[in-house]
Amino acid sequence: MIYHSLKDKQQKASFSTALLSSLAPDGGLYMPDHLPKFDDAALARLGALPFHQCAGRLARHFVDERFNGADLDGICEDAYDFPLPLRTLSGTHLDAATPEPDDDEYIMELFHGPTLAFKDFAARFMGRTCAHLLSITGQTRTILVATSGDTGGAIGHAYLNQPGVKVYILFPNGGVSSVQEHQLTSMGRNSNIKAIGVDGSFDDCQALVKQAFAHKDMSERHNLMSANSINVGRVIPQSFYYFWSSLQVKAAHPKRPIAYSIPSGNLGNLTGGLIARAMGAPIDKFVVGNNANHPFIDYLETGEYTPRASVPTLSNAMDIGQPNNFPRILDLFGGNHEAITQVVSGLRVSDEDTERHMRKVYNSTGYLMCPHTAVGHLAMEDFAEKTDEPYTKITVSTAHPAKFMDDVARIVRDDIPMPESLQDCIDAPSHKHVMSPELSALAKHLDETA
Ligand SMILES: *Cc1c(COP(=O)(O)O)cnc(C)c1O
Repeated sequence: MIYHSLKDKQQKASFSTALLSSLAPDGGLYMPDHLPKFDDAALARLGALPFHQCAGRLARHFVDERFNGADLDGICEDAYDFPLPLRTLSGTHLDAATPEPDDDEYIMELFHGPTLAFKDFAARFMGRTCAHLLSITGQTRTILVATSGDTGGAIGHAYLNQPGVKVYILFPNGGVSSVQEHQLTSMGRNSNIKAIGVDGSFDDCQALVKQAFAHKDMSERHNLMSANSINVGRVIPQSFYYFWSSLQVKAAHPKRPIAYSIPSGNLGNLTGGLIARAMGAPIDKFVVGNNANHPFIDYLETGEYTPRASVPTLSNAMDIGQPNNFPRILDLFGGNHEAITQVVSGLRVSDEDTERHMRKVYNSTGYLMCPHTAVGHLAMEDFAEKTDEPYTKITVSTAHPAKFMDDVARIVRDDIPMPESLQDCIDAPSHKHVMSPELSALAKHLDETA
């Protein structure tokens, strides 16, 4: 696969270059030159495989000669050693061999990885492909990652103890949930994962990372790399679970069209879904759930895209005023607004409605959703009310509710058990460096800890 910059499409790069350099030399985002398209026979073969094998097959189309088939099969088997359930609110699990014909709504739980958020799917693939490349080339990297809560934990976990790599996680100090902060700061004082609490917002963290990359001296001296979804290596693996899950659902319910609802912030998850669809996955619609930060839904409705400063909400991982992946979505549709709106719609959800919906779902079914998942589920309910088509409706659940224990306890109930992996983080000593949101402070810290 060849990648091109979205600024100047003549600027091309291999997968290895795109992954290790994050942005094109002209500052543009990388995108695949053209996506593979699978016919019905190929889709049937891929859908019959277990998820990690299907992922390994798809990955072959996105890499370069530095990876062979066995490398990719090994990377995906190792990265995806946790379940990917599609379940109903009443607790039955989709089994394509013996489907319940009346089931028309599923929750796709993407939070069974080690840090209990969907970011593990991308981080673990990226971490392993990156390790493979660095071991071949003998290079080193300093990874900067800005996080609104979940990315930092997933990236830190994926790169922990990896030779040749040091990771700095920049998070808004006081702006992530207490469980998330424990996850970010508990990876050891002397490990290769360093947490930085920035006195500012997520936008400040993201701006600092961008300034560091733009600073040629700093960027070259430290071999900086981004693990945010500006890096195409984060976005590609997010297509794998849409591809595979849509084939399972289609096999179970062949006559019904398929809609996914995705609680969204930087739009990386949606971009993964759109890539899967472009490769032939049987997906008809995407529904985007946004909180009070909704520049993308404004764009869907008006054709005007206006990035804004973010405002804090209950679904903090989606507090993004300037979604990184918007240019990739435009690119997938050739910039055609109408073409986008034929596939993607969305709903803005307030914090009050999110809380009410978390309680309603819990009281009527016993299913506990994290605030992000509740935004997506409510958006799907709204979509379903406005259509007569008999969709199979899949809500993407992006995080385990226990990651937002303080809010979930206040809103729904205060006696949910803490998963063991989270309890271990909470009990471990935590370390962070606190600094002002200034490039000079970041430069000093990088030099001091290099
Ligand atoms: C990151 C995240 C999102 C938003 O995903 P994007 O790819 O940035 O749109 C939603 N929910 C949770 C729990 C997240 O961690």
